[in-house]
Amino acid sequence: MIIIIGAGLSGLVTAYRLKQAKIPFLILEAKDRTGGRIFTKTTDNQTPIEMGATWFGKQHQNLIGLLNELKVTAFPQYQGDYYYYDDPDSPHHGKYKLPPQEVNYRIEGGSKNLINKLFEKLEKDDIRFSSRVEEIRKEKKELIIKTENNNEFVSEQIILAVPPKIWAHQITFIPSLPQDLLQIAKNTQTWMEDSIKAAVEFEKPFWRENSQPATIMSNSEPFTECYDHTNQKEDKFALCGFLNPGLKNIEAPKRKDLVLKQLANILGEQALHGTSYHEYIWSEDDYVKWPKDSFMHPHQNNGHPIFRQCFLNNQLIIASSESAATFPGYMDGAVEAGERAFDVVNQNFERLKGH
Ligand SMILES: Cc1cc2nc3c(=O)[nH]c(=O)nc-3n(C[C@H](O)[C@H](O)[C@H](O)COP(=O)(O)OP(=O)(O)OC[C@H]3O[C@@H](n4cnc5c(N)ncnc54)[C@H](O)[C@@H]3O)c2cc1C
Repeated sequence: MIIIIGAGLSGLVTAYRLKQAKIPFLILEAKDRTGGRIFTKTTDNQTPIEMGATWFGKQHQNLIGLLNELKVTAFPQYQGDYYYYDDPDSPHHGKYKLPPQEVNYRIEGGSKNLINKLFEKLEKDDIRFSSRVEEIRKEKKELIIKTENNNEFVSEQIILAVPPKIWAHQITFIPSLPQDLLQIAKNTQTWMEDSIKAAVEFEKPFWRENSQPATIMSNSEPFTECYDHTNQKEDKFALCGFLNPGLKNIEAPKRKDLVLKQLANILGEQALHGTSYHEYIWSEDDYVKWPKDSFMHPHQNNGHPIFRQCFLNNQLIIASSESAATFPGYMDGAVEAGERAFDVVNQNFERLKGH
């Protein structure tokens, strides 16, 4: 039995390939949902709102290949003609014509559509939710995995589809993993770990009219970046983006007020009449951020080659986007890492069959 720890994109890609190859596996997931850093909320009005991963580009060929294989469609991000640079202290504060941009794409129905498509390929018993792994112990040829509820699972191979910093701090390995690996993992930034995403849903995309800016960039707050979040059918509307991470320390109603005020200053009074407000503070998510961290650079140690080695006598394989050789930290990296983990398991499986 292969055990995959983590049901984010990388873990689900490995699971999907193992299913196709008829290799038995079980996923242990700490949360009660799939997707990890892919987290599309659906409002009461059925508007998909991305609280996590949202965009990809033509360079992300691993992701595009998977989307095509699963027949998941995508659509270009609406940009409009203008953007607004919001910094009242700057002489550049104001509305500008948008220069030609690389097109970014979003997944139809929300990024969770990809996660759901992968999940549909699995059986109900292939995954255990609310099963945070706390300990991995090697006993003779087997690996024993202990979860928070004291359940134990026996495995020949484990795929760690969890951000490196999280497993390095949260999981006890007996015997210990090599010190250099642990040190690098503890100093690997989990991409977007400090982000706050926020969105305001509207009945109509009023900012698409009268040459209003559809994109806001700011050095002040609360939104540092805000984009049109209309769905592909153009019948659900929202503005969505990133808030200044420092705002996690103020109370939620105050944060919402600041968001609405900023939008109203730029787009007019209509911005105060959203139908719903949503936000997610990723640095408060135990499976994304390690709270006692010191400062880390964006993408620090992402893609480090040590993550593509196997450990514990070749029985421990590291996945997660941060381990990928190309575009680590991004959805594309998660697909690459999930595929690589499957290749390693599959090669071992074929070798054992040959004996
Ligand atoms: C706010 C935000 C915006 C982003 N925007 C983009 C974007 O626009 N484009 C892009 O390409 N990428 C973006 N990303 C990055 C993208 O989300 C990730 O690269 C990708 O989703 C990572 O997938 P993963 O499977 O490697 O890890 P994760 O999604 O982190 O999945 C890890 C899983 O492991 C589980 N887990 C953790 N610890 C344990 C444990 N001890 N036991 C059991 N389970 C455990 C977690 O609950 C989680 O489900 C964004 C991320 C965030 C947070």
